[in-house]
Amino acid sequence: MTESSSATRTLSTAATGHWIGGETVTPAAEPSIAVDSPTTGELITEIPLASQETVDHAVATAKEAFSSWGSISLSKRTQIIFRYRELLNARKGELAQIISREHGKVFSDALGEVQRGLEVVEFACGIPHLLKGSQSVNASTDVDVHSARHPLGPVAIITPFNFPAMVPMWFTPLAVATGNTVVIKPSEKDPSAVNWQAELWKEAGLPDGVVNVLHGDKGAVDGLLNHPDIEAVSFVGSTPVAQYVYETGTAAGKRVQALGGAKNHMMVLPDANLDRAADSAVSAGYGSAGERCMAISVVVAVGDIADELVAKIAERTRGLRLDGDNPDLGPLINRAHRDKVRSYVDGAESEGASLVVDGRSWAESDKAEAAYLGPTLLDHVGPQMKSYQDEIFGPVLSVVRAETYHEALELINSNPYGNGTAIFTRDGAAARRFEMEVTVGMIGVNVPIPVPMAYYSFGGWKNSLFGDSHAHGAEGVNFYTRGKVVTARWGDPSEDGMQLGFPQND
Ligand code: NAD
Repeated sequence: MTESSSATRTLSTAATGHWIGGETVTPAAEPSIAVDSPTTGELITEIPLASQETVDHAVATAKEAFSSWGSISLSKRTQIIFRYRELLNARKGELAQIISREHGKVFSDALGEVQRGLEVVEFACGIPHLLKGSQSVNASTDVDVHSARHPLGPVAIITPFNFPAMVPMWFTPLAVATGNTVVIKPSEKDPSAVNWQAELWKEAGLPDGVVNVLHGDKGAVDGLLNHPDIEAVSFVGSTPVAQYVYETGTAAGKRVQALGGAKNHMMVLPDANLDRAADSAVSAGYGSAGERCMAISVVVAVGDIADELVAKIAERTRGLRLDGDNPDLGPLINRAHRDKVRSYVDGAESEGASLVVDGRSWAESDKAEAAYLGPTLLDHVGPQMKSYQDEIFGPVLSVVRAETYHEALELINSNPYGNGTAIFTRDGAAARRFEMEVTVGMIGVNVPIPVPMAYYSFGGWKNSLFGDSHAHGAEGVNFYTRGKVVTARWGDPSEDGMQLGFPQND
């Protein structure tokens, strides 16, 4: 077994190369790292770690492509995006298989990920409408004013392992549709989905060099963050890296949106339908083995429902399957991460939590080379515990008990993360109050994973987002463009004269 790690080796012929200028590039001198199957531990592929020379090559290629792509007509751009949408829709099963193989999430979940990415492509198909500016005729006598949005140039997109296809699609379609060119650095843990997408863009007719893929780790990211020709950076990943990317990128004069980690709470009020709440907690807590930035990791049971709710969640948790023909969840991304997640379970009881369902036997099963951990349920978790404070990012669901709505709200609002949250209740007024009072960016009412549609924008508050631009929707269009306002006079020149005072409207 070759665990994905920083250990480097020489690139083999089975490697997945960079994709620069519409072709695969595998510089012989670059070290490589392995991409292993989380399900079997077997080697799937290897990727090169980009040198600064390769970073420069990718950015120069994107810059060259921008000189024509940035001014190509909206009609031509839109036709390519429509073709990409059609190809992706027809072949989404292929992409889901790649995701499932490298990430480990079950096929149906991978297909759902592709579908949510596809929605952003469909949103980008409306780019002529989204880029329409405004005009004021006769703003002053014989003077008209209009505004327009223009592309930035080459932009960098840096993505995490947990959504190897969807997160790249939060950004790439809109960056391209708005006239920019892209260098995308996917996670080194499951990189192939982005190569597949780049090749599909080519098949859809996108000119070479508009979308480039660069493989690597921190070195490649730093190369992009400090490159003078990169105009903007879209990043998604853990909070410490998001903060680093934001600070480094903005210090280098770039526009940066950096989406970070999460700890999402689901508040259950005493009047909620507890079966529905339990179904939702289990689906949102353990789906994709808890490796979702919108996963529910904390259930806050309000009032005297806690025992009943925990019993319902536990019963469902025990019924989940990790093997057989139709598993509910797969392994974690690799054994190192599995062991880290497991360490929170190991320490939970000594911190005072109760271990209601213990999934650790999966980590000791005959699948020794794989990265499995069974769904685990902790009760009586408190805000002082490490298992509460850290983003565990695995199939570990914690229950915190609160006496009142205020106590539950205070818990959520005191948390340094603010990505997603949900309330379960039959009381519309309570839900509305929660919506007004909670300091979190994406809120569900009886919806456990409130991921906004592509035509809204995705992003959290507090330590879940650095910068002020969320992904896709109107904020995505704004992020990848800058405005111009034109003031024009086309009256009779004979009526003009010199006027040295500051221009006034008449
Ligand atoms: P990560 O921060 O380890 O890696 C993200 C990207 O940054 C990868 O491409 C990686 O190569 C690169 N990177 C890693 N360390 C770096 C460093 N020191 N300097 C520069 N670049 C570095 O994140 P991950 O483990 O791949 O993904 C999981 C995390 O992403 C979780 O915290 C999850 O909550 C978060 N996430 C957030 C959202 C959101 O929308 N807020 C969405 C998905 C995932």
